[in-house]
Amino acid sequence: MIGLVDCNNFYVSCERVFQPSLEGRPVGVLSNNDGCVIARSTELKAMGVEMGTPAFRLQPCLQRGEIHLLSSNYELYGDMSARVRMVLEEGVDEVEPYSIDEMFVRLEGLDDAALTRQARSLYDDVRRYTGLPVCVGVGPTHTLAKLANHMAKSSAAYQGVCILTADSDETRYLLRHTPIGDIWGLGRRLAERLALLGLRNAWDLRNADAKTLRRHHSVVLERTILELRGISCIAMQDDEARRRIMVSRSFGRATGEWQHLREAITQHAQHAAEKLRHQRSLACALYVFLKTNRHRHDQPQHTPELVVALPHPTNDSRPIIATARRALARIHRPGYRYMKAGVMLLDLLDTEHHQLSLLDTTDDTEHPRNERLMTTLDTLNRRMGRNTISFGLPTANAPWKLRCGNLSSRYTTRWGELLKVKA
Ligand SMILES: [Mg+2]
Repeated sequence: MIGLVDCNNFYVSCERVFQPSLEGRPVGVLSNNDGCVIARSTELKAMGVEMGTPAFRLQPCLQRGEIHLLSSNYELYGDMSARVRMVLEEGVDEVEPYSIDEMFVRLEGLDDAALTRQARSLYDDVRRYTGLPVCVGVGPTHTLAKLANHMAKSSAAYQGVCILTADSDETRYLLRHTPIGDIWGLGRRLAERLALLGLRNAWDLRNADAKTLRRHHSVVLERTILELRGISCIAMQDDEARRRIMVSRSFGRATGEWQHLREAITQHAQHAAEKLRHQRSLACALYVFLKTNRHRHDQPQHTPELVVALPHPTNDSRPIIATARRALARIHRPGYRYMKAGVMLLDLLDTEHHQLSLLDTTDDTEHPRNERLMTTLDTLNRRMGRNTISFGLPTANAPWKLRCGNLSSRYTTRWGELLKVKA
């Protein structure tokens, strides 16, 4: 079986660990430069505040003290994420981070009772050792684990842990009540096209003819159908159309050389930016990681990772590459031979939000030019082959100073910012 451990309202929960007075209150976390809302507590969602809402629109509520808005503290979130992974690694053999706040785990060779105990103990342990609330979903496939997690989150009856088997009455009931657009990896547009064929919910899709739908739609859809039936066919690393942007690759041979690593990260960042523009989104932050070969017990191991804010929500390759390189410089240590490097883009917003966040950046006259440049680049690379034009030199004079009006301390990574306790 496969488990999905997903932290509840991750950024807000990280802040609440160190500021318990925020518990139960409407809290939002803002993109860098305090531009717009990128994370919300349940209470803030209930007030109707949408993702991407510009911070200035919330000023009246803020002044009346009805809500709390915090600057994003990516260093804290990245470190808390690594701690969640460490707790999970104590309990299970294989942990595969899917994003900063979601991790898949393998739960093999357990009977029903042991499986329930294991899932419950993951739920308890993460809370106990990190202070973060999570939900655990378990199923025979990634798609069903994702659905189980969604159930654990949305219905209090599960008390944070939901386990689905392939053919139970419960699974059938849930699939019947899950709209196609809510299934992992299937978007609203696909849902509309499938509705024309009379397929409305996950149960309809599960029983549809996978081969025919593959011919008319995609192999992703066929795999999803099989996964809904309990046949596992999505690999942990597979993120085709999975609504995340992650580019990583294992090297042909391990290398510790700075120049090689820098080139790899540059290329990954560039490809990630292309994907971002293709789906018309902007990213607020990125996550960079390196891995040594864990099977080489004779070599020293190092698997560093870092989450860093981008200067503003963007899909421009240049700041994305420059930020990724800067992150690499901070995590790279000489003396290790790395086997893999990757870049993941975080906190994706629709391009339309950019119009609003532009109001408070200084380079708005540059914006249309930058957009034309990126479009030209993508067109050329599409026509003439990938990497026809690519970035060799980092951009200088990036406006690197961020405005962070209400930034919390980096409690877990800086000695000078430890939590202070009064007696
Ligand atoms: Mg989450």
